[in-house]
Amino acid sequence: MAAKILVVEDDKIQARVTKDYLEASGYEVILAKDGKSAIKIAKTQPVDIILLDLVLPDMDGNDVSRWLKLDDDTKGIPIIMLTAKNSTLGKVDGLRAGADDYLLKPYNEVELTARIYASLRTKALQDELKEKNRNLEELLARVEILAITDPLTGLYNRRHFESIVENEFNLTARYKSPASCLMADVDHFKSVNDEKGHRAGDVILKEVAGIIKNCLRRVDIVARWGGEEFVILLPRTAREDTLRTASRILAAVSSHMFPGMDKPVTISMGVATIPAPSIDSAEKFIDAADAALYTAKSRGRNRIEVV
Ligand code: GH3
Ligand code: MG
Ligand code: MG
Ligand code: MG
Repeated sequence: MAAKILVVEDDKIQARVTKDYLEASGYEVILAKDGKSAIKIAKTQPVDIILLDLVLPDMDGNDVSRWLKLDDDTKGIPIIMLTAKNSTLGKVDGLRAGADDYLLKPYNEVELTARIYASLRTKALQDELKEKNRNLEELLARVEILAITDPLTGLYNRRHFESIVENEFNLTARYKSPASCLMADVDHFKSVNDEKGHRAGDVILKEVAGIIKNCLRRVDIVARWGGEEFVILLPRTAREDTLRTASRILAAVSSHMFPGMDKPVTISMGVATIPAPSIDSAEKFIDAADAALYTAKSRGRNRIEVV
């Protein structure tokens, strides 16, 4: 596709000559006769390069250049300033205003072509680099998500949960607000696997993950702790509210019809709430919920226990 050149020139004859020459060289040309219309075109049409006359009826070419370089939509477009003035001062002003290159009028056509070619090549390289950066950023974002996600359930993984709890534990200690941790484990899951197969077991784990999530608020954090165990952090939540949430989860799982299962699937849960005298670290917070879960198992399963 032909590169599109915006020629900003108030002299009609000069504009026509430049346009004819550039079109003969294979470029697409748009003409603007003053600074304002040049800015408008550059903002609304895809322009690859701008040939900008220094002396224009409404604005100074350097000001046009400054506007274009300040605007996110247009700052990437290379500008070649054309001027009849042969003074060093004029060049410095132009380059300071953001022009990428400078050419004296009357210009030599071969030199103009060479400058345009060089500017377009630089822009193409910059665009390529930008595109690569964008791809890299996207990739990085995806890798970051993968690093904190459990692949089977889509929940957070254990490592990420631990870092969140660590943070929440410190906040809770500082602000003396409560927080609760819930540990949940599917009951007799080994026999589900043995009877229905590992794949059916996986489906159940995914559905349990979804059920738990549905019972939580947006601020709550749920993760797959390992195998058939899930762990939940309820920030700013005291025991009573935590027990209500736990009961809701327990009931939702045991009443859910899991595909291919002829009997209910149940879970057991342990609850720990801070502040508590014996819990002085994030690790002990989670361990306490785990200990309560162990009690729930030993007391018959499909139930909730509190440390
Ligand atoms: P309990 O009620 O005491 O928790 O009994 P359980 O059978 O659930 O406990 P146990 O720890 O003996 O067995 C857990 C089972 O979970 C064993 C393992 O094969 C299964 N399991 C762990 N991870 C996965 C998984 O990713 N997919 C499937 N399908 N099964 C898993
Ligand atoms: Mg002029
Ligand atoms: Mg189990
Ligand atoms: Mg287990």
